[in-house]
Amino acid sequence: MRQPTPAQRALGMPRSAIREIMALAAGRSGMIHLEVGEPEFSTPEHIVAGALQAAREGWTKYTPNAGIPSLRARIAERYANSRNIRVEPEQVTVTVGAIGSLFTAVMAVADPGDEVLIPDPGWPNYESILHLAGVRPVRFVQPGDNGFLPDPDDLQRLITPATKAIMVNSPGNPSGAVFPAGLVQDIADLAREHGLYVISDEIYEDIVFDGGHVSFSGRGIDDRTLVVSGVSKTYAMTGWRLGYLIAPAELGPVCAALQEPIISSAPAVSQKAAEAALSGPQACVEEFRSIYRRRRDIFLEEFDATGLLPSVPAGAFYGLVDIGRKGLDSLAFAKSFLLEENVAVVPGITFGPSCDRYVRVAFTIGDDDLREGLGRLRAYILA
Ligand code: PLP
Repeated sequence: MRQPTPAQRALGMPRSAIREIMALAAGRSGMIHLEVGEPEFSTPEHIVAGALQAAREGWTKYTPNAGIPSLRARIAERYANSRNIRVEPEQVTVTVGAIGSLFTAVMAVADPGDEVLIPDPGWPNYESILHLAGVRPVRFVQPGDNGFLPDPDDLQRLITPATKAIMVNSPGNPSGAVFPAGLVQDIADLAREHGLYVISDEIYEDIVFDGGHVSFSGRGIDDRTLVVSGVSKTYAMTGWRLGYLIAPAELGPVCAALQEPIISSAPAVSQKAAEAALSGPQACVEEFRSIYRRRRDIFLEEFDATGLLPSVPAGAFYGLVDIGRKGLDSLAFAKSFLLEENVAVVPGITFGPSCDRYVRVAFTIGDDDLREGLGRLRAYILA
């Protein structure tokens, strides 16, 4: 008799090596956690208060697929001001986390069998999303000796008739690399020349230390650029699960409609919390950024003159450390380092094959623990 079998699409979904590290770290006491990719701060009080008030006022029901109109308008206004471009609220889709915006963007522009270019190293969820969508991921390398920035010529070589979009992430996870304006423009020009969409993950846009964030918006390709952002990282709101997508005008309704079978709408209370975040006092954004900058500087100090840092992170809250001299692959290194030194880091292989000689550390714990963890990492590599 025929037995039911689970979907290959689900079973074959690529999973990240970080799970093994988390499993090893679970339950060990005194662990220093350099692996966690979320702000450790609590959500600022005025945002929590806004959400509580909204719940009491009855924001406890479904909302339109694309989100609460006042939030869409606020996002459009903020986005237009920060990038000095015109954005209509109809271009904005509110999603469950930035991850929801990434999934929506892929579903909106690529069909099964199409190809999408993704960064290596890059956030592993890009590959999982493409896998679920039946879209073929094609990795472009962002080499350490180029500051983990892509070379537009490499990108061009990977473009085929099946390519639909280029996915980019600046400030970048895991390297903290920030694309300079010239590179953004070159990639934008490439997309225009080859008739491609750009899906730009700008979730770390407010965490840039040196210079400013350069958006893919306003580069002459706004008719084909989908920008992903949200409140998770900027306002320490990861658990509220609230992201947003700004799409070209013609794709706005498509992205909104895609929410119906996936989430109907993002949670109403979280949308109101995001509205409180985007409309309220902004001092917390600078406060968090300066704390991350200070910790990035601790990272640079701890590895000063060791030759172990391939680049200086200019944004986000991550840095990569070169473990090449240990002669271990990054997963083996991360496991033995955890077991021997009680410090968790993320093996570089999680972010792509080009990243296996690095481990990622996150600046999401207090200064003293950060120094201690980084000190142990330095000593372990140099031993
Ligand atoms: N994009 C990148 C590069 C990330 O690192 C993350 C979270 O770690 C996200 C998107 C997802 O953000 P959210 O928590 O809003 O879904």
